[in-house]
Amino acid sequence: MEKRAQLYEGKAKKVFATDDPNLVIVSYKDDATALDGLKKGTISGKGVINNRMSNFLMQILEQNGVKTHFVEELNDRDTVVKKVSIVPLEVIIRNISAGSFAKRFGVEEGIVFDEPTIEFSYKNDDLHDPLMNAYHAIALKLATKEEIDTIKSMAFKVNEVLKAYFLKLNVKLVDFKLEFGRLADGTIVLADEISPDTCRFWDAQTNEKLDKDRFRRDMGGVEDAYNEMMRRVFGE
Ligand code: ADP
Ligand code: UDP
Repeated sequence: MEKRAQLYEGKAKKVFATDDPNLVIVSYKDDATALDGLKKGTISGKGVINNRMSNFLMQILEQNGVKTHFVEELNDRDTVVKKVSIVPLEVIIRNISAGSFAKRFGVEEGIVFDEPTIEFSYKNDDLHDPLMNAYHAIALKLATKEEIDTIKSMAFKVNEVLKAYFLKLNVKLVDFKLEFGRLADGTIVLADEISPDTCRFWDAQTNEKLDKDRFRRDMGGVEDAYNEMMRRVFGE
């Protein structure tokens, strides 16, 4: 399978057409942005790590009954995925308080919730991805009520599977962002990526951050954190 025309260049990935109208190739870059695009940089080797980790996690999810866009890893940075029409929502699941949740509600990071939370942001750069609830998404026809119900139950299932998986690697899955899309026949599948860019990972013993927060917060050791997550997942 080969890349044809570039359809889109995002902040972290490029998307290419293929000879098959139902498939696209995503190509992972080392580029990183944060703080609503204000902070820009590169994280050397990130594209390779995110590509391989996301594909591996999507395959675990498939084995656990979660439909995903994953088709085939072509090489270190390029993967064939089912082409979807993205539901323009960032779906965020949280197990432990951190980031914007801690800030918005004036609490410290690290509070372990009895039950995971779910929230939606409208994926719209011009509006700075505003927080919205399911009723807002339905009113704006971003998704139907049935699609929202499907997305919610899939997102919580992803959390159950990945939380247990990462705990075995001595990693707490603090929170993460998912994107969903529609196949041509309307089926909702998990799309985009699951990686240290889109999840908060804390070492289970020390709470050391092993994710993009090290870049967002200028903590240093960014590449080391990505490499450590790679090592825990793949033993490399
Ligand atoms: P952004 O658009 O936020 O800068 P990326 O750099 O990751 O993000 O670009 C990848 C783009 O591809 C995103 O807009 C994402 O919604 C989209 N995308 C992810 N998976 C698929 C898919 N299976 N089919 C079509 N588009 C996808
Ligand atoms: N996240 C993401 N993309 C975004 C916003 C958030 O992947 O555009 C992820 C982020 O990595 C974290 C979770 O979603 O794992 C929750 O992020 P939060 O709302 O706390 O926002 P932040 O503190 O990153 O602004």
